[in-house]
Amino acid sequence: MKRIIFGLLFGISLSAFGQPSSPEVKVKNVILMIADGTGISQITAGMYANGDATNYERCPYIGLHKQHSSDNLITDSAAGATAFACGKKTYNGAIGVDAEGKPCSTLLEIAEVAGLATGLIATSTIVHATPASFIAHVAQRKQYEDIAAHFPSSGIDYFVGGGKKYFDRRESDDRNLVTELENEGYQVGSYFDQEFGKWEFSSEQAVAFFTSDSDPLPYTQGRTYLQSASEKGMKFLKERSEKGFFLMIEGSQVDWGGHANQSEYLIEEMKDFDRTLGAVLDFAEKEGNTLVIVTGDHECGGYAINYGSTRDSIAGAFTSDYHTADMIPVFAFGPGSEHFAGIYQNTAIFDKVLSLTQWK
Ligand code: MG
Ligand code: ZN
Repeated sequence: MKRIIFGLLFGISLSAFGQPSSPEVKVKNVILMIADGTGISQITAGMYANGDATNYERCPYIGLHKQHSSDNLITDSAAGATAFACGKKTYNGAIGVDAEGKPCSTLLEIAEVAGLATGLIATSTIVHATPASFIAHVAQRKQYEDIAAHFPSSGIDYFVGGGKKYFDRRESDDRNLVTELENEGYQVGSYFDQEFGKWEFSSEQAVAFFTSDSDPLPYTQGRTYLQSASEKGMKFLKERSEKGFFLMIEGSQVDWGGHANQSEYLIEEMKDFDRTLGAVLDFAEKEGNTLVIVTGDHECGGYAINYGSTRDSIAGAFTSDYHTADMIPVFAFGPGSEHFAGIYQNTAIFDKVLSLTQWK
């Protein structure tokens, strides 16, 4: 009880000096959902293909971020994710380092130091640019084995994604990072052909789960773990620390549908991401203390829904097989979500999360 009164007084005195932004905001958990390569057209196509409905509609506040990197008007996923993770514009290809190549503290690392539980989930390899930028610091995104080497000592509590070969069949050295993870207390799973949902893990030990040796399959070819890994992850991380958790969930392959100029591919990936978003919002709604931020790092494909489209048959057209410079929508739900309205740089997402939490 004494502690509660102290907490109240402390909260009020902080707000008197303008930090945090508002005394009624209580953000315990932060879930950042990134659909890679997703602009308005991708979300719209997924929405129509899903009977004119999407879970994005449940988010009360919407903003736009400017995606450009430090060296190009059009970002790649490395600089894009590093902007969210570190709050710094950096060059394309950079993983958790600034424009001068200096390592920068990431949201995941800051949350970890503050005593929160942390997690990463991706439908790419776990060493791919988007998840990597939250946990590793390397000069170039293709340094997959160097990125993997950051995991065993990171303190991360829960991660799910592909790329096991970068951990246990390494070309650059003889280390077996799966063994190192186990020595650090991780329970490691790798059920390549089964749904993640069938894996039983203990709530006592940190979790590492590999969904493939290299890239996981597209959703249409049987990869179905994003939703179950997210549901289990939220439950696990909630138990893991009284202080709350930070979780990044990536729908990695919307981007790959864009690069391949395959409308069907990106639409099925959008629907998978949207179902997962529904599960995340259900959790946040129930908990009441969870800020959910949903965005993309950049658009991919210059995708448009052309005349002749119907809900059942989207006539998707592409102007590019690479990313474009469109501003990208940001959707927010939960305490503090009103701060995500407006137009701002992609780096502002990092700043907003830090100003709404007590992590630093
Ligand atoms: Mg990605
Ligand atoms: Zn891409």
